[in-house]
Amino acid sequence: MTARRAEARGRSTAAVTRRDRPGAVALLPTRWSLWTLRPRALAYVLAVDVLAVAVIVASFAWRPVDARDWVVVGLLFLGVAVHAEAARHIERVRITQDDRPFIDLKSMWTFAGLLLVDLGPALVLVAATFAYWWIRNEQHPPVHRWFFSWATVVLGTGAAALVLVDVDRARLLTAAAGPTGLLLVALAAVVRWTVNHGLVVGIILLLSAPTPSVRRHLASPADTLLGLGALALGAALAVLASVSPWLVPILLVPVIMLHRGVLVDQFRQASRTDPKTGLVNGAAWADIAAKEIERARRHHIGLAVLMVDLDNFKAVNDLHGHLAGDEVLRAVAAALSAEVRAYDAVGRFGGEEFVVLLSGVDTTSASVAAERIRGRIGRLEVTVSGAGGGHRIQGLTASVGCVVSPTASGGVDELVGAADAALYAAKRAGRDRLVCAPPA
Ligand code: GH3
Ligand code: MG
Ligand code: MG
Repeated sequence: MTARRAEARGRSTAAVTRRDRPGAVALLPTRWSLWTLRPRALAYVLAVDVLAVAVIVASFAWRPVDARDWVVVGLLFLGVAVHAEAARHIERVRITQDDRPFIDLKSMWTFAGLLLVDLGPALVLVAATFAYWWIRNEQHPPVHRWFFSWATVVLGTGAAALVLVDVDRARLLTAAAGPTGLLLVALAAVVRWTVNHGLVVGIILLLSAPTPSVRRHLASPADTLLGLGALALGAALAVLASVSPWLVPILLVPVIMLHRGVLVDQFRQASRTDPKTGLVNGAAWADIAAKEIERARRHHIGLAVLMVDLDNFKAVNDLHGHLAGDEVLRAVAAALSAEVRAYDAVGRFGGEEFVVLLSGVDTTSASVAAERIRGRIGRLEVTVSGAGGGHRIQGLTASVGCVVSPTASGGVDELVGAADAALYAAKRAGRDRLVCAPPA
């Protein structure tokens, strides 16, 4: 799935959100897209929601609330609001992906809440944070998604509270707690992250059936660090708040830095990605290929470069329009990625030309892979919508130039040049074919 531009303002920790009907209508339970979920996903969402409500009820039944806790919750909520407003312009450009959990840095406040007050008030802070997020967004996510996001944070927080159940809170955040204090706080953070994140990945997997891939939907290592980093900041915030509350605003500076840091990472990612197809662009592909060639040389394995060019693609544009042409390019990109192994690098070289690096192959297996790719492109049926209704584009053909380097000798430019020359030969010979250059 491709990255979508920031809908961050309409998203939470659990975040699978899309624009839905505006405000009032979105609140009508009969209109919720919740009911269109598959039975297993629906049962999962409802179970999580019900369990979250039960945890809230139990937390209040368990212990009467101290009036001081409400003051702390109020101040932390103020922090949430200031944080949300200060980071608003940054979060707006943050790219979110529908197939991965969204990391909400405001979790630092709710985690600090858990360390400072009892579970009941801490969960009220979670609810207030989500309510604030809803009120401040013009584009509301579907209510059930918002509620589910909230429920996952409640359950994560509830699970973390179990770690601290018999702990003296007044002592936990002081030097008297010793290394045990560190262990308890770290364990609570890890439990909160794991439960919250696990529940979100659970629903993404249920929604992405029939081919769910746990690894693809887990938070990336960078996102995991970010999520745990926010909780670590929450711990620091709790200590600071209990020792010297007036210093808490100082923490907003590193927090905003963290938000900006996330963007830097995203911009780097964007500079390597072709926005139309989601593949890596030519420059990034060349980087990957250079490393792969180096690795293949060290391990004495062969590799191949394929240059794939759609035949008479200009005619597709002329006949169906450029937007339809773009749809075809996306479909071809997806077909290429699906037809090679996960570690083979597929890139968009430019226009309607794609490059593929296959490692650990000889001439025969490279040719088999190239023909498989051509076969798949030939079978593609791309449905595009147009002024006169939807129509289907099919019967595509591609020419492929291939070069195999059994000893991974030569650089990227050399291999690409040879594959390009082979492609040119395929075009001259009448298109719709594979031509392999002699091994480099
Ligand atoms: P050949 O078989 O010789 O490759 O013919 P061709 O028409 O595919 O090749 P040519 O190089 O003459 O034209 C390439 C076309 O690809 C022209 C251009 O409009 C189209 N193209 C390049 N980039 C894009 C793009 O991003 N989107 C769309 N829709 N078309 C593109
Ligand atoms: Mg072409
Ligand atoms: Mg071309």
